[in-house]
Amino acid sequence: MYPEDSRERWFRGQGHWSGVPAEQWGDWRWQMRNRITRLEELEERMELTPEEREGCLFARSKLSLAITPYFFNLMNLEDPGCPIRRQIVPRSEEMQVSPEELLDPVGEESSMGVDGLVHRYPDRCLFLVTNVCAAYCRYCTRSRLVSNAQGYDFHPNFENALKYIEEHTEIRDVLLSGGDPLLLSDKKLDFLLGRLRAIKHVEFIRIGSRIPVFMPQRVTPELQDIFRKHGPVWMSIHVNHPRECTEELYEATEKLTMAGVPLGNQSVLLKGVNDDVDTMTSLVHRLLMMRVRPYYLYQCDLITGSRHLRADVSKGIEIIKALRGHSTGYAVPQFVIDAPGGGGKIPINPEYVTEMNENEIVMRNFEGKEFRYPLQDGNLLAPVGEGLPQQEEVLV
Ligand code: SF4
Repeated sequence: MYPEDSRERWFRGQGHWSGVPAEQWGDWRWQMRNRITRLEELEERMELTPEEREGCLFARSKLSLAITPYFFNLMNLEDPGCPIRRQIVPRSEEMQVSPEELLDPVGEESSMGVDGLVHRYPDRCLFLVTNVCAAYCRYCTRSRLVSNAQGYDFHPNFENALKYIEEHTEIRDVLLSGGDPLLLSDKKLDFLLGRLRAIKHVEFIRIGSRIPVFMPQRVTPELQDIFRKHGPVWMSIHVNHPRECTEELYEATEKLTMAGVPLGNQSVLLKGVNDDVDTMTSLVHRLLMMRVRPYYLYQCDLITGSRHLRADVSKGIEIIKALRGHSTGYAVPQFVIDAPGGGGKIPINPEYVTEMNENEIVMRNFEGKEFRYPLQDGNLLAPVGEGLPQQEEVLV
């Protein structure tokens, strides 16, 4: 069990910034202004390993370094293997590009309807509204464009993208992402959601954001008003480790929920961060306590310089297997691989169906016990071996 996994011990406080007035600490603009973005600033606050130091120098031309004061507090400064630190502090391994790695690992560029709008699935599109994030995850799928460190020069044109959505009446579902849409000003977000709401065929609006995790102070009463005005707006947040579930994040998710925003979570399976059953179990339980439904567990995309963070696919399967049946189905995310080259998200499941023929389907439950279900008329649900199953054995 992860040592900090306790219902009583959720981090709260200003930590290394305890001298800052609470009003400033609670202001998201202060958090943005005081981000750590340079090697010198990081070294003033912590001792870096030689690999981290080299990684920070390389970050300028790969994916910028940025850490909010709030998120910095979650790192263990004594431990280079700290799961928070591994996600956010650059390392020299990012400079090593393996043969299987790609700049655009899930093939978004080939599905762009107009610049910044990915239209891969028939009824939905991905609208990239900014290149900026509050902090930069070292495994980011869009590191080619977020932070503009690689010279991609991404400048979204809202009008072009909105026109495309207006003209494509088959689009009923729009996902705002980036970069992080919650870094848009209230005025811009209000405008964008208002325009999307006015398009008759757009039924479903979603936002992908890690802001509640990096900077929960952004969830203000004004932001709540925007979501109430244009709702329902669904949101996927991005929590990878139970230590990220702080009291501040709890309050932010509560405020979002009270503003009518249904919340899901997308985690990325990362080596040394969350690639073990105990950590993920602790995470999904905490998420449910915060009203957040674990939605996806992603196999890390084949982004350049990510080999040191990519966990084995077998770890993901092992985690899902351990969760299924041992926790409520609400706690079990769908493990997926976003297929390289643009194949979309493909579910990766432990094998529960062992056989299927014209008469029956043969299945194993979470304990490995085998059951049969008839495929022809009839109501027989006959277990193999151990007598008739009780209802609670099959419906968890
Ligand atoms: S918050 Fe999302 S878009 Fe931004 S760096 Fe992290 S993974 Fe990439």
